[in-house]
Amino acid sequence: MVRVLLYLLLILLFGCTTQEKVSPSVFFAGEIVNPTSDKVILYKGDKVIDSVALDENNRFSFQFDSITDGLYHFYHNPELQYVYLENEDSLLIRLNTMDFDESMVFEGKGSDINNFLLELFLASEQEQSDVISWYELEASDFSAKIDLLRESKFKILKEIIKEGNLSDNQRNLAKASVIYNYNTYKEQYPFRHRKSSKHEVLEKLPQDFYAYRKTIDYGNAQLTYLRPYYRFMVNHIQNLSFMGCMEDCEKTKGKTNKQLHFNEHKLHLIDSLVNEKELRDNLFRYVAFDYLLKARDYSENNKRFIGKFHELSKNNRHLNEIDELYQGIESLQPEKSVPDLYVASIKNDTISLRDIAKNGRTIFYFWSGVDKRHFDNIKTRIAKLSKSKPNYKFVGINMKTTETTWKGMLDNSGLDTSLQFRATDSDELTKALTIYHENKCVITQDGRIVDAFSNIYASL
Ligand SMILES: [Zn+2]
Repeated sequence: MVRVLLYLLLILLFGCTTQEKVSPSVFFAGEIVNPTSDKVILYKGDKVIDSVALDENNRFSFQFDSITDGLYHFYHNPELQYVYLENEDSLLIRLNTMDFDESMVFEGKGSDINNFLLELFLASEQEQSDVISWYELEASDFSAKIDLLRESKFKILKEIIKEGNLSDNQRNLAKASVIYNYNTYKEQYPFRHRKSSKHEVLEKLPQDFYAYRKTIDYGNAQLTYLRPYYRFMVNHIQNLSFMGCMEDCEKTKGKTNKQLHFNEHKLHLIDSLVNEKELRDNLFRYVAFDYLLKARDYSENNKRFIGKFHELSKNNRHLNEIDELYQGIESLQPEKSVPDLYVASIKNDTISLRDIAKNGRTIFYFWSGVDKRHFDNIKTRIAKLSKSKPNYKFVGINMKTTETTWKGMLDNSGLDTSLQFRATDSDELTKALTIYHENKCVITQDGRIVDAFSNIYASL
């Protein structure tokens, strides 16, 4: 009996391996000019699929026996770009980090869809300034302009489809990219128009302005991580919440919990519209981050929001992260002590933020070795501030940089190195101080928080 089972097992194992050999394989490789990190990480959603090191020629390659067809991301710190992969694809990419998206070219089997998605992304970046200038137009004129842009992309897509290299999935993805990319502008229109036309009220729109809303797909897992689709969803929820509130909630006008009220609308809308689990979780997360970080609401409102969040998004995949953000924000309220976190000094001593901020007015700002332009701007800004506010202590905290790079960048930077520190655990510091904006600064007085959500370019 045991022997029979053993044979059976061997046959099964053997069966599996021979099957894997004939199954399609996927190859994704490339060259990175001017690398900014030593590896490339491939993600599906927020899950790491694989990670490979660059070789001496700055090349990398991923190889899989089989793969779930769909959108992936590849990450070369600090840049992220998506790539569509299908079984039997053999995709090559070349890019230069000095000009990340603009320099990217795909070649090989599977390149058509990827080059199209990239072209669409770059084109819509270039169209931005035109679109902004059109917001002052009346709705039907605006709509016509946007439709023209959309049709021009469909024309390109038609040519690619004619060549016959796109699978059904790829075709649907390409179409969705175009449709959602341009419909996003229509979701934004009423608010942008009100601003640029300087009208006080939102204007009534032609009846067919939102005609596309009849065919919105709220539950297609293939689209969840497609940038134009996700951006559309965020703007669509924003639009619906606002319009719905205007129609139904006259009573809330002028109330102090306006922000909370409005964001609760968003939570309810996502709850009622979106079924696809990952998209739903991601949109809920977006609202939580947006509200908690931007609204800067009263403590009791934040508490009510997080309660509502837990009620509507019970097993959200990002729940830990959101709870940590909420707790971080709570512990950074005015009058609270500076969090007990440790950083390294230029002499490699470990010192707590509390000690650094013990006496007088201290302003913490943040920078990383990855973004040289930001560092240049920061240096100029700190030099100016140090002159105009000689009694303040401007303390720079470096994030996500190796010690050598950090010290190298401080040399000849003109910064006072006794006021420069390096985060030894950047993730911990990011969460505890909620550093989600590059120009964020934390203002303290004698070891207590004055404003933990200020901006280094604000009047301090
Ligand atoms: Zn309302």
